[in-house]
Amino acid sequence: MKKSEVVHAWARILSGRAPSLSIEITKECPLRCPGCYAFDAAHLGGGTELRQLSDYKGDELVARVLALLDEHKPLHVSLVGGDPMVRYRELEQLIPQIERRGIHTQVVTSAFRTIPAAWSRFKKLNVVVSIDGLQPEHDARRKPATYERILKSIQGAQVTIHSTVTAQIADRPGYLEEFVRFWSARPEIRKIWFSLFTPQRGAADPEILSPRQRAVTIDTFRRLQEQYPLLDMPEMVLRELEQPPANPGECIFARTTKTISADLTTPITPCQFGGNPDCSQCGCIASMGLAAVGHYPLAGKLTAGHVFFASDRLGKRWRSLRDTLSPPPAPAPVPPPFNILQP
Ligand code: SF4
Ligand code: SF4
Repeated sequence: MKKSEVVHAWARILSGRAPSLSIEITKECPLRCPGCYAFDAAHLGGGTELRQLSDYKGDELVARVLALLDEHKPLHVSLVGGDPMVRYRELEQLIPQIERRGIHTQVVTSAFRTIPAAWSRFKKLNVVVSIDGLQPEHDARRKPATYERILKSIQGAQVTIHSTVTAQIADRPGYLEEFVRFWSARPEIRKIWFSLFTPQRGAADPEILSPRQRAVTIDTFRRLQEQYPLLDMPEMVLRELEQPPANPGECIFARTTKTISADLTTPITPCQFGGNPDCSQCGCIASMGLAAVGHYPLAGKLTAGHVFFASDRLGKRWRSLRDTLSPPPAPAPVPPPFNILQP
């Protein structure tokens, strides 16, 4: 992030708005990954599930997403799902229009479908491909987005690889290094990120890492970081992984990112995982990256996090006061997806 963007983000926080938006642009996904949080019954708080929401397609989806961006004016938007590449025609329309608004975009996909090489021309776009370990484990979990399919889909494109470490692979000697070596050798790869599986409170998923597995995995990242330049897991992020935020109230990521589900209305709280995530076991790279920024010392014992939390409280109070004194106007109607021509 550039200095001007930090100042801009701070201004958004002081005005009571989230500088980052995450939008589930579709509820559809051709995969059925074990441990998927988007389709977990708790994701939307327990009443409704993602598959029961209505979602949008075509020009209507494009118009509604742009209207959301114009309303919230974020600095960064993540387009997720389901799998957002289910709506790749809509993404072809959205990405240039979002770029023109000066907003950074992240598209998170399984790469079950071709990522257009032409998207490399967008300076503010990052396409993140989720890969669950080496080929045998990945293919078993993520068919039809197998290694073979991903390698075809990313040809000529520029992508970031993101892998979530689960208990099933955390204990295997040399496994993570083989993964990093394999993907570091591909010309399409810009960066490699890892997260650790983040469970809901009280869950017993087989993917959950034990404290020992967590510590060993973080040490492995530390060692690999020295050897593989594309691995983007800096020490300040690793220290946050060792000591995640205690609860969503202490999570800068949760407090600066507004997450909206596929009906483009339902909020997902407290963060992208939804439900009641176990922050003490959080392994989300985005959350840890922002936590690391929060611990950055500014002067003496004052950290960027102290300034952030004070600004956030002030911004939210200011927004609530402003909305009470002068309620915001109703959002402009979204134009219909087609015009009915009168005879
Ligand atoms: S690709 Fe993502 S959204 Fe689809 S099932 Fe897998 S984890 Fe869930
Ligand atoms: S991103 Fe992690 S630390 Fe932040 S609220 Fe969600 S689970 Fe908790």
